[in-house]
Amino acid sequence: MKKPFVTKQQIEEIASSYPTPFYIYDEKGIIENARAVHEAFSWNKGYREYFAVKATPNPRLMEILMAQGCGFDCSSMTELMLSRAIGAQGSDIMFSSNDTPPEEFAYADKIGAIINLDDFTHIEFLEETIGRIPETISCRYNPGGVFQMSNGIMDNPGDSKYGMTKDQLFDAFRILKDKGAKNFGIHAFLASNTVTNEYYPQLAGQLFELAVELKEKTGAHISFINLSGGVGIPYLPDQKGNDIKLIGEGVKAEYERVLVPAGMDDVAIFTEMGRFMMAPYGALVTKAIHEKHIYKEYIGVDACAVNLMRPAMYGAYHHITVLGKEDAPQDHVYDVTGSLCENNDKFAIERHLPKIDMGDYLFIHDAGAHGFSMGYNYNGKLKSAELLLKEDGSVECIRRAETERDYFATFDSLPVYDRLEEIMDSEGV
Ligand SMILES: *Cc1c(COP(=O)(O)O)cnc(C)c1O
Repeated sequence: MKKPFVTKQQIEEIASSYPTPFYIYDEKGIIENARAVHEAFSWNKGYREYFAVKATPNPRLMEILMAQGCGFDCSSMTELMLSRAIGAQGSDIMFSSNDTPPEEFAYADKIGAIINLDDFTHIEFLEETIGRIPETISCRYNPGGVFQMSNGIMDNPGDSKYGMTKDQLFDAFRILKDKGAKNFGIHAFLASNTVTNEYYPQLAGQLFELAVELKEKTGAHISFINLSGGVGIPYLPDQKGNDIKLIGEGVKAEYERVLVPAGMDDVAIFTEMGRFMMAPYGALVTKAIHEKHIYKEYIGVDACAVNLMRPAMYGAYHHITVLGKEDAPQDHVYDVTGSLCENNDKFAIERHLPKIDMGDYLFIHDAGAHGFSMGYNYNGKLKSAELLLKEDGSVECIRRAETERDYFATFDSLPVYDRLEEIMDSEGV
């Protein structure tokens, strides 16, 4: 069973200062998990987790991860700037972008980030943009076909827009070497949200064999292999989660099988996990404000899909706990909906839950990654606050809720910009 990291009483207290909906993150859980990740890969001297900033781009949370030794994987200008702003620099930052605008390559290079090229043509594009090829460079690999494991097809790299084919990768290494690159990285992300301890080891095995071949055929010095993201979490209550210790051991076994005999025992392992680092340690807290009985039973809450779009976008399951009713019988069946003018704005469909009363707080689990960050402003909805439940039990506001002023801010060339203040004053909003 999934257990919230806060009680009803705590949330009632917090909600008296910060109205729902809000995100809340569990500092203790984040730190313990980050330590377990580092422990699991401590056998590899150069190991580094580059937290995928897009999963949870909050500088305060990034600082917590940085204190545990994490670097940052960025894919846009803003993410690079967030990383810089909290003091990350140089090789603390991986730039794994795709369809990259020139100014982003230029900025990534300027701050010394490790650039991961998504495509063969980006060699020329990068060289034209920054006037040279950096000494340390990484290339993203896409083997095509399907990525299969013992329990079936995991994902479909042949259908994905990322990375280079195998032939392109070999050509890229030769060309980059001729242009002065000295330290090479290989990167691949072949399956998402894998809830199996086999994914990283199997991916590692493939990439290690590829690295040996690349070294032999191109003479490139492979410095690091980046297993990227994709390690999943159990969103379903009866699902068994990954064991990061076993995953680390599985990667180690492949390392010893493939790289060590090839004399490549100095290769660093990098990871770029987002979901595994943060998803279980963040929740969206929302209040039931309406109930509706038509052809089905609906509970309307004060959050909507702009706060957490995974259910609407992918039909993703997010477990819901009605706070204070943890042990009550789940004898009601509800669709839990937000207020968007879109019928897919539902956090749960025909979900068995305890009887929900107006004012009850719903704790929507596993929203700590790809949750707040995917938010948008459809229907003029505003983004919620983000709060941090600290190890000492206190609560820190780490991002205030958006206001109408924020929404109007980009209209600053129009008369309505000034009119908002007048309206708010005269109409008492
Ligand atoms: C999204 C992404 C990640 C993180 O993925 P998770 O599934 O959250 O672990 C890592 N690297 C790259 C390049 C990504 O695009």
